[in-house]
Amino acid sequence: MAVAWLDDVRSTDIDNVGGKGASLGELTAAGLPVPSGFVVTAGTYRDFIEDAGIDEELFAAVDVDHENTEALREAHERAHELIVETPVPDDVRDGILSAYRNLGDGERFVAVRSSATAEDLPDASFAGQQETFLNVQEDALVERVKECWASLFSQRAIYYRNRQGFPHEKVDIAVVVQEMVDAEKSGVLFTSHPSTGESQIIIEAAWGLGEAVVSGSVSPDNYVIDRETNGVETITVADKKMMMLKDEETGETIEQPVPDDKRSVRVLTDEEIDELVELGERVEDHYETPQDVEWAVHEGKIYMLQSRPITTIDDDGAAIADADVKADADGGSASVAEEKDSGDVLFRGLGSSPGIVSGKARIVTKLDHLDQVGDGDIIVTEMTMPDMVPAMKRAAGIVTDEGGMTSHAAIISRELGVPAVVGAGSATRQLEDGQSITIDGDKGTVREGTEPPQEEFEPIEEARPKTPVKPMTATEVKVNVSIPEAAERAAATGADGVGLLRTEHMVLSLGQTPTKYIAENGERAYVDELVDGIRTAAEEFYPRPVRVRTLDAPTDEFRQLEGGDDEPKEHNPMLGYRGIRRSLENPDLFKHELAAFRRIFDMGYDNVEVMFPLVNDAEEVARARDLMQEAGVDPRKRTWGVMVETPAAALGVESMAAEGIDFISFGTNDLTQYTLAVDRNNERVAGRFDELHPAVLKLIGDTIETCRELDVKTSICGQAASKPQMVQFLVEKGVSSVSANIDAVRDVQHEVKRVEQRLLLDSVR
Ligand code: PEP
Ligand code: MG
Repeated sequence: MAVAWLDDVRSTDIDNVGGKGASLGELTAAGLPVPSGFVVTAGTYRDFIEDAGIDEELFAAVDVDHENTEALREAHERAHELIVETPVPDDVRDGILSAYRNLGDGERFVAVRSSATAEDLPDASFAGQQETFLNVQEDALVERVKECWASLFSQRAIYYRNRQGFPHEKVDIAVVVQEMVDAEKSGVLFTSHPSTGESQIIIEAAWGLGEAVVSGSVSPDNYVIDRETNGVETITVADKKMMMLKDEETGETIEQPVPDDKRSVRVLTDEEIDELVELGERVEDHYETPQDVEWAVHEGKIYMLQSRPITTIDDDGAAIADADVKADADGGSASVAEEKDSGDVLFRGLGSSPGIVSGKARIVTKLDHLDQVGDGDIIVTEMTMPDMVPAMKRAAGIVTDEGGMTSHAAIISRELGVPAVVGAGSATRQLEDGQSITIDGDKGTVREGTEPPQEEFEPIEEARPKTPVKPMTATEVKVNVSIPEAAERAAATGADGVGLLRTEHMVLSLGQTPTKYIAENGERAYVDELVDGIRTAAEEFYPRPVRVRTLDAPTDEFRQLEGGDDEPKEHNPMLGYRGIRRSLENPDLFKHELAAFRRIFDMGYDNVEVMFPLVNDAEEVARARDLMQEAGVDPRKRTWGVMVETPAAALGVESMAAEGIDFISFGTNDLTQYTLAVDRNNERVAGRFDELHPAVLKLIGDTIETCRELDVKTSICGQAASKPQMVQFLVEKGVSSVSANIDAVRDVQHEVKRVEQRLLLDSVR
């Protein structure tokens, strides 16, 4: 028999059906809602290679130096060719096809999924390397099964086995063929927290087929349920850009943008959450250990596609942090569940700068450890500091214990194009110095071990739009720059200028507080530093405008610097001595910044604009303007304005406009934290940080309206400018420009164009 029906399969059949097949058989037997199907057994694969006499040649072909990329590629190609070009014996073909015809009406779309059988693998990283094909029908079925067999010899799989000295001939592969669930929504469910082991059910959910989550084209919603009370603890609704669907005509899996009205909408209803929780509990009861379940919903019915033990939790329920994560029996396919649980996810944080990289963890607890960060290392630290920028540039990736999506680490790593995971809780305690890890800056995972490098990543080229023609938009699309070193990368985006150049990173990277720096090096040297930083961006973008903001560093950041002991110790620095309020109290220091502007203008950089941060009212604006004038910068000749970052500023914009500002720019990072009382740097409340909250949008919408009446330009330079829904909202309201992160400029340009065109069409219809 070439195949075994899932109904007849039990966990004891694992050698012949692989981990995935055995698990599905068990679940079927337990009466759980599993789509029907069968397994092309491992024995069938083994007979195929042996009877055709290609086995010896196959294993010899892949016995290569795994560090030699070219040799790996050739080995993979030869193995693939051997398997795909060898005909399948008629009786095997007939066995597979006749089983298929017994599924439903005999014309069903099926998923064809690899299920490898290697047990006791030294490292679970092996899992999750093999193929899955969705929406397959009779005509392509046998070929797809062969491709699953061949995927046992992907470059990654060969690399892992060779590196770990695991013999290729000891690995077999079964293939599960199962009715497709044409999912309207799908995702994963963990019956315990996969990294902390806490008694919580975690559900991740996205629209369409679960593959969208795997391919990284969508970040799923996240639901956390307390297992004691079954109450929902937190719901984090993600911006789900893409979804995978079955094309009705061709049956192929296609990627599509999520319709606007569903993008930021919760995927799961309360009832579905309840049902999933119940299913999760039943599965866990069945296996008597925490499970990672892959699920899908079709026409209101929930199906279970897979369940596997959570291998990152040890018997006591605590997360395993050491390298010895137990291998899972299932070689597995690249499905949602396995991506999350290839056995090696050590813990999670917030994916804050995209990209997947491997390297050695360098635990940085004090600044004097920074020289130990070598090229290609991964910095692991409580929170990054401006002094770390040179090390961050050398690093392959960054992991922090603390911080949200708008924290220093997140902003700088995005600008440098360095993958980062922030707010990971206890990374500095869970990892050991020198330990090899792989971080995924999209999904926010930290995995054990190294993985072969992804495609070469070249930060400047990556930022350059792939299409030579930039979308022409009436609303300007600008870019944010926080460190002058990123100016070239920022300019490569083709942005219409810089909407925010933060000066605090120039100052903080001096390693001393401004007062200390001036005491040791003199006023001139301090102004020189500022001029140099501003000029780098002004030059790079000339004649496009560069909006430079005066200093806005909270005291906790200054405290880390030499001279920081003199800084006030504040309970809540975010509500404290920062922004324009500090500059106005300290005009002697502020005047050096203003002197830097004056020099920049004298040098001829007439593209520079001046912006004051964290203003609350017209009085502050007037005082800042007068100091600027005293420093020799004529407010009537130069373009200047303020950030709107507090509800007070938004509500009082009319009186601020009367002081002569040319523009306002929404700092939504702060505006959100002050409107919702959610500390932007506190990862505990990161799930509540919602720039699209109606209250925030109301403040923004009303401010734009007032500014339009008063002929004051409006812009946004907070992180939310990179979110399509925010862009849509702002363009509809008539914002003059938006300023996005480097990596988002391209998308924002297209989004702005799309909204503008729709508005135009609506106006003529
Ligand atoms: C903001 O608050 O949105 C902003 C852009 O300023 P920063 O992130 O520097 O506080
Ligand atoms: Mg701010």
